[in-house]
Amino acid sequence: MSLHDLTIHELGARLKKREISSVELTEAVFARIAATEERVGSYVTLSHDGALEEARRADARLKAEGDSAPLLGIPIALKDIFITKGIRTTCCSKILDNFVPPYDGTAVAKLKAAGAVIVGKTNMDEFAMGSSTENSAFGLTRNPWNVLRVPGGSSGGSAAAVAADQCIAALGTDTGGSIRQPAACCGVVGLKPTYGRVSRFGVIAFASSLDQVGPMTKDTIDCALLLEAIAGHDPADSTSVPTATQPYSSFLNGDIKGVKVGLPKEYFIAGMQPEVETSVTAAVRKLAELGAELVEVSLPRTEYAVAVYYIIATAEASSNLARYDGMKYGYRAPAKDLIETYLKTRHEGFGPEVKRRIMLGTYALSAGYYDAYYLKAQKVRALIKRDFDRAFESCDVIVTPTTPTTAFKIGEKTDDPLQMYLSDIFTISVNLAGLPGLSLPCGFDNAGMPIGLQIIGKHFDEAAMLKVANAYEQATEWHKKKPKL
Ligand code: GLN
Repeated sequence: MSLHDLTIHELGARLKKREISSVELTEAVFARIAATEERVGSYVTLSHDGALEEARRADARLKAEGDSAPLLGIPIALKDIFITKGIRTTCCSKILDNFVPPYDGTAVAKLKAAGAVIVGKTNMDEFAMGSSTENSAFGLTRNPWNVLRVPGGSSGGSAAAVAADQCIAALGTDTGGSIRQPAACCGVVGLKPTYGRVSRFGVIAFASSLDQVGPMTKDTIDCALLLEAIAGHDPADSTSVPTATQPYSSFLNGDIKGVKVGLPKEYFIAGMQPEVETSVTAAVRKLAELGAELVEVSLPRTEYAVAVYYIIATAEASSNLARYDGMKYGYRAPAKDLIETYLKTRHEGFGPEVKRRIMLGTYALSAGYYDAYYLKAQKVRALIKRDFDRAFESCDVIVTPTTPTTAFKIGEKTDDPLQMYLSDIFTISVNLAGLPGLSLPCGFDNAGMPIGLQIIGKHFDEAAMLKVANAYEQATEWHKKKPKL
């Protein structure tokens, strides 16, 4: 076992006993990146010198304070959607390729205050629009389990970096599945908190009523630790909720006797890859063996979730992305006057998927169509949320597959946006309802690709979700498997 293979909690124990230093650990992570990055391509920007500086500071803190902060000295990667002071932040778009922010977003500032070491910025679909990371303006990320396959997306770089041990943990964002789907594709743990649980301040906006920040980790204990560090109210984000956070890691005792696990009949559908169904069914049996009580629930409006999402997400994106006009920051195309500058900057700066969504969203919001599309989608969104409210009257968590298939081949869905959109069929309704959702490994398909189990919690009950996930993890070995790179 090398240092880069280990988890936050394993390394934390060694750092505290001063068996290793953060500088040693950080160097081990950069050595791992050097050895594997050509095959994986997780990062768009590395912060080598900055990371070593932070590691030295963490070592000084460990020495002086014997600090018990769990993230102190731990190398963490950030999706390139997080605003980072002094580190280029592009959202993997040409339109921001020269943007170096003057401040840190809240989640990043919290990680730094906790003593984490920022390794670099990971690849993603441009503006987080996609499910394969193929929409990045800066090249492909490959799945560490099979480099001919995608890592999922849009937080594909973060998922691949965690799976390939190119960092100890990472942050991603999830608007319709972008933490959970790549976590499932790469065999790691990913958690989307309740909307409002983690501040979105300093996170480049895609669809503001859906976006959430969350951890991507090697196991559920790390997931709980990282969530503890970033959760909480932030006056700088008016949608962050002043509800008390919880010491999530202290609930992970493996005891799920009597916990009611809801199984939505609409999620075990025809057309799902057979191995996904087999593994998820086996995982559900395992939860029952551990003492959970299984109950059938119904989420009848699930079939509308993808359609509703692609109205709401694109409408909000068209509004959020209006700020990229070549005037304030980022790319500016040379042009003869103001209007031509706007047109050429946006034409040259945005990729095809982003343009498709801006056009779709602008259309859905336009006068005469607003009621037919946006307003109607909002109404159906309320019904989808009501389905969950009703289901949660008879259960504590809901369990489903994370994705209908395992990671697909690079290029397989790039010509068919609708097929790409359908990879999020099981994750999207969770964002529409504002609920927390988690994905953790629950098996492999016949080609050796990881399969994800999704656990959905009640609003602000990340604890129940983590507890069930951790009990399953303790009883299985999936999370210990590593890709051969
Ligand atoms: N894949 C979905 C999309 O393309 C979700 C993306 C996300 O969660 N950021 O919009």
